[in-house]
Amino acid sequence: MNATGIIPILFHENGWKDLNAQQLQNGFDALAEGQAMMRLIAELYPICRSITGDGLRETLRLLQKEIPLELREVPTGTQVFDWTVPKEWNIRDAYVKNAKGERVIDFQKSNLHVVNYSVPVRRRMGLAELKEHLHTLPAHPDWIPYRTSYYKEDWGFCLSETQLAGLKDEEYEVCIDSTLEDGNLTYGEYFLPRETRDEVLISCHACHPSLCNDNLSGIALAVSLARALQAAPRRYSYRFLFIPGTIGAITWLAKNEAKIGNIKHGLVLTGVGDAGALHYKKSRKGAAEIDRAAAHVLRHSGQPHEILEFSPYGYDERQYCSPGIDLSVGRLSRTPHGTFPEYHTSADNLEFVHADKLGQALAASLEILSVLENNGRYVNLNPKCEPQLGKRGLYRMVGGTAEAGISEMAMLWVLNQADGKNSLLDIAERSGKRFEAIRKAAEALEEHNLLRKELKSVPQAAR
Ligand SMILES: [Zn+2]
Repeated sequence: MNATGIIPILFHENGWKDLNAQQLQNGFDALAEGQAMMRLIAELYPICRSITGDGLRETLRLLQKEIPLELREVPTGTQVFDWTVPKEWNIRDAYVKNAKGERVIDFQKSNLHVVNYSVPVRRRMGLAELKEHLHTLPAHPDWIPYRTSYYKEDWGFCLSETQLAGLKDEEYEVCIDSTLEDGNLTYGEYFLPRETRDEVLISCHACHPSLCNDNLSGIALAVSLARALQAAPRRYSYRFLFIPGTIGAITWLAKNEAKIGNIKHGLVLTGVGDAGALHYKKSRKGAAEIDRAAAHVLRHSGQPHEILEFSPYGYDERQYCSPGIDLSVGRLSRTPHGTFPEYHTSADNLEFVHADKLGQALAASLEILSVLENNGRYVNLNPKCEPQLGKRGLYRMVGGTAEAGISEMAMLWVLNQADGKNSLLDIAERSGKRFEAIRKAAEALEEHNLLRKELKSVPQAAR
């Protein structure tokens, strides 16, 4: 028996109400939520993460204190679609010492100083040879760039232009105390079930070392979302993935092909803590329900925002939206990656992310999910001319009383458009009203037996 679609009935029989924006806002303190996210970001910030290895594991274990995340290990060499799970990288220390034995580049001061995935090195060399392995950012002479070499065995150091200018022409001792060996790729997965198999995917990358916006802000938002949803009645199951970028998404998809069909909507979360406006990047489909829900919420947020068309460049939406997978997965960020100078540098630090911005991103995400949770089709049970609202007390409810909070116009829109074909989101879009106003109107009309939720998805045998 297919359980899908039975759940809404059970909810109502049990007196459950779906997750909705009003419920979410009750007692919701965006700034306090953002401050909690900042504390998690500060705790994770010093760890040297990569696409594999103990820094990634340590990060995921710290997240287990927040949510019951399961850690999964996928062995090196595992074939995942066109890719192969790489060797596992670990690092204990790295430095460049000058002739006096002073550490002029020191991994212990910043893990960005080492090119991520550098192979082990223990050699002496002159400045000219060393320079072939040094990376700086001349445009920002005090910042350290972030560089990786995952799929080409290489080594290098990153440093500020100012530091480079101080290096004399002498012999240096170069040490990278790392290992690159057969091991595992680790990722974290938290599945928050509902009886229905339909699920929402929330995905973030967790492979960047000491970088706050690009990496940690998305992780913190996903954790806060998971905690909020744990406590809320909900229609969908939720699957949270904390994965190394690209290879992690490819690995999960390759190993879970049977589950892909259950994912009805999804969000990739990253870069949500900077001072810029929220940006939603549409899925490859372009007009999926998540695309419309996100655009609707941002449009009604009263905050500056941007809606971006899909492009095959970015974060893991690239994998989720590849043509053979083609999930309805969009991306929520603030300033798009690569368009702000702090991106992939030491300036993407604890000062670059802000508690209020993180809290607002959480509120927006929850509101987007509440649209998905509550978006249904209804049938007007009195479709021949308008029903008489006054005799049912609905007109008085309307009479401008703020506490009732039901808009007469919203009720008229719902009654007019509820033909079993239009969803509440369709009605919200057509009327220009906020989804929450339309949902409340539908709820009031349903209570007065003027509206019935369309339960087309319930199999006859299950009734
Ligand atoms: Zn990045």
